This record gives sequence, C-alpha cells and structure tokens, in this order.
Amino acid sequence: MTPEQRQTVLRLYDEVDRAVTAAGPSCQASGRCCRFKEYGHTLFVSNLEAEVLLAAAPPFDPATVSPDFCPFQQGNLCTAREPRPLGCRVYYCDPNYQEKGVELSEHYLRRLKQLAEEFDSGWRYAPLHVFLREHVPADA
Ligand code: SF4
Repeated sequence: MTPEQRQTVLRLYDEVDRAVTAAGPSCQASGRCCRFKEYGHTLFVSNLEAEVLLAAAPPFDPATVSPDFCPFQQGNLCTAREPRPLGCRVYYCDPNYQEKGVELSEHYLRRLKQLAEEFDSGWRYAPLHVFLREHVPADA
C-alpha cells in the first residue's frame, strides 16, 4: 500500500467518524467491545484496514494474539485510535443506535471495497486475529 492510498483510507475513516458523531450513539467507555470473548462478538476487518492498522499501531507480540481480545486495548483505551478499523469506529453497544450502526457499517464497507478495487489490492475479509497472526514485525 502506498502512502497516498493509506491517506485515502484515513480520509474515508474521517468521513465515517463524522457520520457516527452525527448519529450520536452513547458510549460509557466500558471497553467491553474490544474484549471480544467477554462481549461475545468478532471484529472482522479487510486486508485494506489491516494494512492501515498495522502500519501505525503500536508493536505487539504475534505469539500472544488471540481471538478473545484486541492487543491494542490498554486499560479500557485503544492505543491504535487513529488507524483503527471500520468496525471499531461504527460499533457501539447503545441499543438506540443498532439500526443506524448496521447501515453505516454496510455503507462504508462498500466504500472500502471500492477503494480496494481502485488500488487493485484484492479483498480479504477475516477476523482481526487472522491478520495479526500473519503480521511479521519489521524488526523480526
Ligand atoms: S483497534 Fe482499538 S478500538 Fe479496535 S478493537 Fe482494538 S483496542 Fe478496540
């Protein structure tokens, strides 16, 4: 992925953030949504999102990666906030936002797929831990 392509994805994320802010879901910052097993869900990401995330996220040990939680959560906070994937941006547990959340998720997933076509980067969609396990740190 080129730096320009990465910037294009980050600009799309800015648009996502504005749309989510406009929808106004409430968040109690419990951090449960990043502890996948505890919350009973799976964060799926595309190869495009994984590349953007891994280019700027803090280091982690691939040997410790698990489907149960995200290695970028420290306390209840995300340490990869700027490059975090679409699912992290649109998902909120606010019951009044669920329909809008699905709508935003589907809309921006289509936009990401369009970017993948433009970039000719292919399209893989898998749980986060699959991409994290494949990731070899630059200094390995
Ligand atoms: S990248 Fe950040 S927001 Fe997304 S699951 Fe991990 S800690 Fe949570």
